[in-house]
Amino acid sequence: MSTEEFPTDSPATPAGALAAHDHGHAHDHAHPAEGAAHSHLDAMDVRVRALESLLVAKGYVDPAAIDRLIETYETRVGPHHGAAVVARSWVDAGFRAWLERDATAAIASMGFSGRQGEHMAAVFNSPREHHLVVCTLCSCYPWPVLGLPPVWYKSAPYRSRAVREPRAVLADFGLQLPEATAVRVWDSTAEIRYLVVPMRPAGTDGWEESRLARLVTRDSMIGTGLALAPDACEPDPATGERRSARDPGRDERAPRP
Ligand code: FE
Repeated sequence: MSTEEFPTDSPATPAGALAAHDHGHAHDHAHPAEGAAHSHLDAMDVRVRALESLLVAKGYVDPAAIDRLIETYETRVGPHHGAAVVARSWVDAGFRAWLERDATAAIASMGFSGRQGEHMAAVFNSPREHHLVVCTLCSCYPWPVLGLPPVWYKSAPYRSRAVREPRAVLADFGLQLPEATAVRVWDSTAEIRYLVVPMRPAGTDGWEESRLARLVTRDSMIGTGLALAPDACEPDPATGERRSARDPGRDERAPRP
């Protein structure tokens, strides 16, 4: 399949290059470069679609199965699973010890298991140590507890800078840690996926698990954020909206290259 079937504005098909030819016959099809002017697909989308079309055409994959998989991870599985795990570790010392010893089993005991979560490790933030997770090679991520990775997690700048200058990356996310706090960077792989357990916010004594879970953001479980302050769970006096509900549409936010 040629990429011309998936118009792109990538440099490989410069706008105008294919449309500028002159011919005399009448037709109503769009030229590739005409489509490119309206295409929202980037080069990676084009490649993915081309690959998927090829696999489907050859009968290697079932499009319905792919759709089901995507639907599952987009709508049912997500950071609320990880937040429940973190909240339980905050209130149950026995569970926390289990999570430390055998994260895969402890997480599975809450019903969260499956693809990309077969071998989990939990790393615990403390005033002494802050953990940050990256996949330097591609986009390995613990799907059963966090859902699908955000765009920035897969970006080349995040993948390279998280290792080279983790504090600068954290600063891009608005996170300034005390100098005395060491930053440890964990490289997720196909073999092992990490879940960061953020520190329990002060002022949450006596809170039950479900209320605590609302303070646990996706970013806090990757290490690019902290758990929210307790007042984030209370309605904003101005809007009546819970602040934790607004957190954190950062999917499109990538650190500076
Ligand atoms: Fe990866």
